[in-house]
Amino acid sequence: ADIAMYAAKRSGSGCLLYDSRHDTQTPERLSLMGELRHAVEHDHLTVFYQPKMDLATGEVRQVEALVRWDHATRGFIAPDRFIPFAEQTGYIKAITRWVVRHVVAQTADWLERGIDLQTSINVSARDLLDNELPDFFQNVLKEYRVDPRQIWIEITESAVMEDPAHALSTLEKLHNLGFRLSIDDFGTGYSSLAYLKRMPVDEIKIDRSFVMGMVTERDDEVIVRSTIDLGHNMGLKVVAEGVETQEILDRLRECRCDLAQGWLLSRPMPAAKLEDWLLAWRA
Ligand code: C2E
Ligand code: CA
Ligand code: CA
Ligand code: CA
Repeated sequence: ADIAMYAAKRSGSGCLLYDSRHDTQTPERLSLMGELRHAVEHDHLTVFYQPKMDLATGEVRQVEALVRWDHATRGFIAPDRFIPFAEQTGYIKAITRWVVRHVVAQTADWLERGIDLQTSINVSARDLLDNELPDFFQNVLKEYRVDPRQIWIEITESAVMEDPAHALSTLEKLHNLGFRLSIDDFGTGYSSLAYLKRMPVDEIKIDRSFVMGMVTERDDEVIVRSTIDLGHNMGLKVVAEGVETQEILDRLRECRCDLAQGWLLSRPMPAAKLEDWLLAWRA
């Protein structure tokens, strides 16, 4: 019976439990896959939101959506524990769709209640190779009557480099639909400035490894300052991520960085908590 099951998994076109490119199918992996699938199908995922503050005005009008797995016995599981696995198995496609729908519905609900927030969604390399993704995004926005300009899409440089032609074409489509694009973890990975030039981006996010070091390491400060200048010279907004101290925030403001995100302002939090946080922030 086990062999028959295995064969069925192997040949099944849905192929969620077995990916022929990964021959290291251990029972643990199969059970994780099953649990993850169950989580997505039963809405056991949830989204936390982290504010991005405008350094010139102190206003918060943008948030980043960060997925968590709300596990019955293990509590909230961080994305680093299951996103890479989902990327390997291809199941990321289903997770991304879950996140997009959830976040767009939340954004629509906020807009209806007069809470005007732009929301960023993280998208993986695999998603950029999914030709149906732009249509999916557009349909969900239509369904919830949300303007695509409310939604930002965060991608990493490495995601684009995996298959640049294909990724660029997906990004062009998304940008033409009105979504805004942000390059995440900027400065890590094999970044190529040539691609930055060709990509329809609106924002870059300086990786937190540079931001965290900028008041103690001369090199990190040079990298942060140069990235801010590079971004501005290309007409882009620049976000610093991983801002944990007031000293770093002050230095970023001095360097004319546009937005800051990090624990100093707030950790990522559930939607309802974010609403309270915003009320207190704006008071
Ligand atoms: P990321 O996109 O670079 O997200 C920023 C991560 O840094 C988040 O971790 C956030 O909680 C954390 N962070 C924020 N401020 C600070 C700070 O001041 N100090 C420190 N040390 N960390 C800070 P999180 O939520 O665990 O997410 C980890 C990664 O998982 C994300 O990195 C992103 O690559 C991925 N991820 C999260 N949600 C999604 C999603 O919906 N889809 C996809 N494809 N990937 C996601
Ligand atoms: Ca991100
Ligand atoms: Ca990042
Ligand atoms: Ca990261």
